[in-house]
Amino acid sequence: MNEIKFEVYRSITKKETPLCFHRRAELDETNRTLECAECGAILDPFQFCLTMALEERSVQMNVTRLKNELKKLSEEYETLSKTVKYLKRKSRVG
Ligand SMILES: [Zn+2]
Repeated sequence: MNEIKFEVYRSITKKETPLCFHRRAELDETNRTLECAECGAILDPFQFCLTMALEERSVQMNVTRLKNELKKLSEEYETLSKTVKYLKRKSRVG
């Protein structure tokens, strides 16, 4: 039985680092890869896009939550402000 061996030649010389947590990436047009702009790790393009999308969703949820909290606090401030005005008027009259 003949054995056929395949050898993989890669032009990529940078190390593949699965534990890269940086957030900036660059496209390497020569090697057609996505690389971390900080440490040079070769990144999985789909995973990088998914991570960025999930982080964006989380940021948007926080923005929505903070807007709702701001609205609630503004309404409470308005109520308290009216109460203070009422009490000031009442204290002048009485
Ligand atoms: Zn990195």
